Amino acid sequence: MSVKNNIKLINDGLKPECKLIAVSKTQPTEKLMEAYEAGQRIFGENKVQELESKHEALPKDIEWHMIGHLQTNKVKYIAPFISLIHSIDSIKLLEEINKQAKKNNRIISCLLQVYIAQEETKFGFNETEVIDLLSNFPAQFTHIKIIGLMGMATLTENNEQIRREFKSLKLLFEKIKTQTKADQIQMKELSMGMSSDYKIAAEEGSTFVRIGTMIFGERNYTIQ
Ligand SMILES: *Cc1c(COP(=O)(O)O)cnc(C)c1O
Repeated sequence: MSVKNNIKLINDGLKPECKLIAVSKTQPTEKLMEAYEAGQRIFGENKVQELESKHEALPKDIEWHMIGHLQTNKVKYIAPFISLIHSIDSIKLLEEINKQAKKNNRIISCLLQVYIAQEETKFGFNETEVIDLLSNFPAQFTHIKIIGLMGMATLTENNEQIRREFKSLKLLFEKIKTQTKADQIQMKELSMGMSSDYKIAAEEGSTFVRIGTMIFGERNYTIQ
């Protein structure tokens, strides 16, 4: 199957309110152009340097999303152009994004990454931390907009467990929607689901699915 056919197949199965992010990490720019020519405009990357050089090389109407762990000292490199950062996992990171957004005269949209999986190594806030942060959202973060949540389910064959984890994130999302009032918070996006579990995620209310392997094939890590 071609990149173009894969994108069509995925989009045909998604409701219009659920948007596809082509996760293009490790893929060469020619592959991204194949997706672009098939109409794809949202691309997700997880490394700052790769994001920068692809942004430089590719058409300017692409929306770039940062989906991987972001170090505070690298925020400055993506602040001028990034459309959405999915992986906010500390207040320190928000502070730096606010600072760099201000410098660039921009408001940067962000999602809070929530820890829903059983694995120990995943980054993110737990539910209590999310609620605490959003109900006392620092007023000085004037150049940030929190527009939703992101989560990753446990890597398991157990679909019921995956569904349970996505359901818990959706529940938290709905709760926050009705409870938080700060101007910088507007809960509308829920980023959950990748190649192996995006169908379950979409059924559970995802508005962004992040798909790499199913579009581009297996990643070749040696080019990194
Ligand atoms: C790599 C990655 C994906 C895409 O994974 P695939 O299994 O290739 O679809 C989605 N989300 C995050 C955060 C990733 O790092």
